[in-house]
Amino acid sequence: MKEIILIKNGELALKGLNRCNFEDILIKNIKRRLRELGEIEIRKSQSTIYIEPKSENFDFEEALERVSRIFGIAGFSRACVCEKSIEDILSRSVEYLKTVAENINTFKVEAKRADKRFPLTSPEICREVGGALLDAYPHLKVDVHNPELTVYVEIRDYAAYVRAEQIKGAGGLPVGTAGTASILISGGIDSPVAAWTMAKRGLRLNAIHFASPPYTSPRAELKVRTLLKKVAAYSGTINLAVVPFTEIQDEIGKNCPEDYFTLIMRRMMMRISERLARQSGSLALITGESLGQVASQTLPALVTTDSVVSMPVLRPLIGMDKEEIIKISRKIDTFETSILPFEDCCTVFTPKHPKTRPTLEACAEAEKRLSVDALVNKAVAETAYSYIE
Ligand code: ATP
Ligand code: MG
Repeated sequence: MKEIILIKNGELALKGLNRCNFEDILIKNIKRRLRELGEIEIRKSQSTIYIEPKSENFDFEEALERVSRIFGIAGFSRACVCEKSIEDILSRSVEYLKTVAENINTFKVEAKRADKRFPLTSPEICREVGGALLDAYPHLKVDVHNPELTVYVEIRDYAAYVRAEQIKGAGGLPVGTAGTASILISGGIDSPVAAWTMAKRGLRLNAIHFASPPYTSPRAELKVRTLLKKVAAYSGTINLAVVPFTEIQDEIGKNCPEDYFTLIMRRMMMRISERLARQSGSLALITGESLGQVASQTLPALVTTDSVVSMPVLRPLIGMDKEEIIKISRKIDTFETSILPFEDCCTVFTPKHPKTRPTLEACAEAEKRLSVDALVNKAVAETAYSYIE
């Protein structure tokens, strides 16, 4: 029996003139994510996208799993392909729905006849298919108001399809429709969630990670790669830039007042990130900051970090509390990795009494003894690049 995946795209429908473009990007994303699983053919018609496996050993279950994580898909379903004859539709419905039918008691059938040349009307198709299912599975009853299962029969141009309930998709907009931005990724809980949240709005992601060996272990970087891989299951390929940050931290430690350590470190991160972002075609930076969560995330502190860059800094978690953030991190399966206990470069140099009400003047004063430009240039030059997919 031949099965296909039917996709209903979500917000796309609202986008008017952009719609074709959005659909094309979505289709490209689907192709890229299913590529390894075997050959497929993709067709679109009337706001539905049809994915038809073409190779024998196509991993259908894995394809469904992957489709459930592609942004821009509101809902999808698996469907059985039938010839456009009522006999074929009846025999295949009975066979295709066997397992589902055995586990429920009530159902109804809905039919849609897009191809009006088909000899039976929609109500007639419903009656025939309903009758065949009742004959084959005598424990079943029809319930048109509150059925446990709705069976959909669609007569389209190419073929007829029988399917059960729709599965909820990842929602959002297709990645790539909103441009590209760079996520500053640590090994913590917040930044992977921030990355996922913005990819959901259609942004393609580049990632920037600051590593401070030997203060941070190679395992900390590996953890970041694992986290990004989990995000990439939704966002598609992510370009990762790993920036050597040890020298900058040492210089800050030697030359700056302790209560400004974290802030100056964050300002250095932002300066370097903006440079890397411009190089890689990103139009904005993304961080996992949430207002008031720690001393460096008070409003005055955010003002001092924003003031060193001219690019917009997107902070999708700014108004969320930890519980809400953790809920998403569990959903996208980054939580367990994020709580692994490897030091990140922020925790190594945490001052005992960080400034919560810093001023721009005091930051500038504290940075006077640093060769800011030279340090930024060197870090950018020594950055290492790789792909995560
Ligand atoms: P997270 O859980 O994302 O680590 P956090 O609440 O621990 O966030 P901080 O450690 O103060 O907060 O970092 C704030 C933000 O700065 C992070 O969300 C992330 O975007 C960025 N950031 C922090 N450390 C790094 C790093 N080593 N490399 C890249 N970005 C970082
Ligand atoms: Mg952190």
